[in-house]
Amino acid sequence: MLTTADTTSTPSRVLEEAMRRRTFAVISHPDAGKSTLTESLALHARVVDRAGATHGKASRAASLSDWGEVERERGISITSTALRFDYQDVVFNLLDTPGHSDFSEDTYRVLTAVDFAVMLVDAAKGMEVQTRKLFDACRRLGLPVVTVINKWDRPGLDALELFDDIQEATDRTPVAVNWPVGYAGEFRGLMEPGSPSYLRHEVVASGARLAHEELVDGATDSGLGEELWRDAVEGAGVAAELNGTFDAQPFLDGEQTPVLFTAAAGNIGVRYLLDFLLHHAPAPRPRPDRAGAPRPLDAAFSGYVFKIQAGMNPAHRDQVAFVRVNSGVFSRGMELRHAQSGRPVSSKYAHHLVGRSRATVDESWPGDIVGFVNTTGLHVGDTLHEGRQVIFPGMPRFDPERFRVARSLDTARHKRFTKGLAQLEEEGAIQLLRDANGSPGGPVLAAVGELQFEVAFERMRREFGVEIALDPPMPYGHSRPFSRSEVSRIASISGVEVLYRPSGDPVALFRDRWRLSRVLEEYADVFPESASRT
Ligand code: GDP
Repeated sequence: MLTTADTTSTPSRVLEEAMRRRTFAVISHPDAGKSTLTESLALHARVVDRAGATHGKASRAASLSDWGEVERERGISITSTALRFDYQDVVFNLLDTPGHSDFSEDTYRVLTAVDFAVMLVDAAKGMEVQTRKLFDACRRLGLPVVTVINKWDRPGLDALELFDDIQEATDRTPVAVNWPVGYAGEFRGLMEPGSPSYLRHEVVASGARLAHEELVDGATDSGLGEELWRDAVEGAGVAAELNGTFDAQPFLDGEQTPVLFTAAAGNIGVRYLLDFLLHHAPAPRPRPDRAGAPRPLDAAFSGYVFKIQAGMNPAHRDQVAFVRVNSGVFSRGMELRHAQSGRPVSSKYAHHLVGRSRATVDESWPGDIVGFVNTTGLHVGDTLHEGRQVIFPGMPRFDPERFRVARSLDTARHKRFTKGLAQLEEEGAIQLLRDANGSPGGPVLAAVGELQFEVAFERMRREFGVEIALDPPMPYGHSRPFSRSEVSRIASISGVEVLYRPSGDPVALFRDRWRLSRVLEEYADVFPESASRT
């Protein structure tokens, strides 16, 4: 039998390793610079030799955080990658999220697996639709948020105006960790509020290399000019006077969001950000199990599946279940159990994931992400553990808003059709609904956003060899799950259709928002709160 690391590592070692972890996601409205920042962070931490020299979508297609046919064709980032890098004595686990709102459920799942988020804001655009929604999601999950105002090298809004926007939209007080010297589009460097000096950078056009930075005295720097320095000192002073300064506890409690400025494309301000995360961002903390009892970090190994991803490696048809380690040490080969079924699970094919390549994992600690390759029977939200059983709260499903019947165009491949759709459902890529008769004409695919249908269509063809046809959208725009005992009551409401999940749980479909709110009001006892609702 293989020795598990549990016998070789002491509880204090687990705590020590957990303290060294920073597990986070970079989130933003699309185009704010998430991929660019990810590459720049990696460049600073030297995971890859250099960040993508140009940051255009096309050239990024083969870069470290994107994959998949649909993504390449459309140039959007759909799936989430785990990127791991070391910086000083700390291990950073950066989980990338899809920016497109059609994949908001994927983003939410990733956010359940992190300890804090870095929110990118485009200096010229300020708070955008997705920025607000993501701030809301972080609030619901109790995540501390570090705000980064990016693209300061381009003309944009006034820094204080941005602070007002953040405060108004998020209900968190923005506090300046650093302050830009030079207005947006005329970025000269970064100062710490109250400091007589600033970190002057040279301007680099693209992010192929690190920018040269030098600490200089602001008041006597002849190249800067008196006015820019005075403006910076004043701006930082006003921000501090109005909003106060950074304080760890309010940040962890979600009352404050520390703000830093960057021009990620030029690698400016990124080291500053890394240093801030190193010193102030939270390490993993004990996570509550389903009953609400926090699982101590140094208990036996436990973790849960927050994401399942197929087709990551074009050379092999494979599927990876991403597991966030919540407690203990994971070592490859150890004997694990799948908490929901009690079955043993093999951990022989576990990997850390760095972009597209894999490094075989030997040991992982709380906060780390382990990829289980081709491990059957794992679903999003499942718990894996060693020793005594623990179950973490399941993953909430978003309420789908689009519904289309799927048909196989190849009747001879009916089995594959069924199997393929079942797999997409298990991964959480799409939801599958059937009517009370089992939908003999074809199941209903249910999604939050239209692009999910495209992904399902494409994956059925590529991975399962089945051409499918999707009927025009059904005339419903909202849905809510409810309890089985209420089926006859809900099914009798006019304009409401009841369909069933593979588990047999019913879901009510509503034609429009008006009908939805009317029914929710009248049957408030029937419909529970759900994750996607704000
Ligand atoms: P994402 O959609 O959030 O991943 O955004 P990307 O990283 O793809 O960036 C979107 C566009 O903004 C790309 O053309 C980038 O080159 C550009 N970009 C990102 N960061 C900066 C920056 O700091 N300054 C400037 N000028 N452009 C940037």
